[in-house]
Amino acid sequence: MICKTINTQQETQVLAMKLAAMAKPGDVICLSGDLGAGKTTFTQYFAAALGIDELVTSPTFTIIQEYQGRIPLYHFDVYRIRTPYEMEDIGYEDYFYGKGVCMIEWPTLIEPLLPENHLWIELTVTGEFERNICLRGTNEYYEKKIEELFKG
Ligand code: ADP
Ligand code: MG
Repeated sequence: MICKTINTQQETQVLAMKLAAMAKPGDVICLSGDLGAGKTTFTQYFAAALGIDELVTSPTFTIIQEYQGRIPLYHFDVYRIRTPYEMEDIGYEDYFYGKGVCMIEWPTLIEPLLPENHLWIELTVTGEFERNICLRGTNEYYEKKIEELFKG
């Protein structure tokens, strides 16, 4: 696991863009952190870097929003989920093991359903524009991504 301080929103943008440049079909990225930590903001920069020009928001009543970019983006926000059955209803496995990249806000709420291998990102508010970001990969594939992210 690696943790860094982010001082500006631009730094968040740079990280999200780099991660998007490395994104491959089947990638699963979990974005954890309180309300206002920057999960959706991170996803917006990530989406833009994938070539998605639609506005990415956190939908209140849909768990998943799909966007077409260089590769598809499956944006999950499971904040309002009450039972895992809601995940079954949307056929979540088709997304988790599909042809796009999954970005999941509030992953702790569906932790038992997450694919075994994923990239876990934790954002913590430490100031108006300052954030602490911690990244952990469950396997070498994701650990390599983290290494790449902070190279040079
Ligand atoms: P979440 O999805 O985690 O609830 P949002 O992305 O919706 O959070 O909101 C984060 C807010 O914090 C946005 O208003 C954004 O402009 C602001 N912000 C300030 N500094 C940063 C930063 N360094 N990284 C990300 N967002 C930031
Ligand atoms: Mg959000």
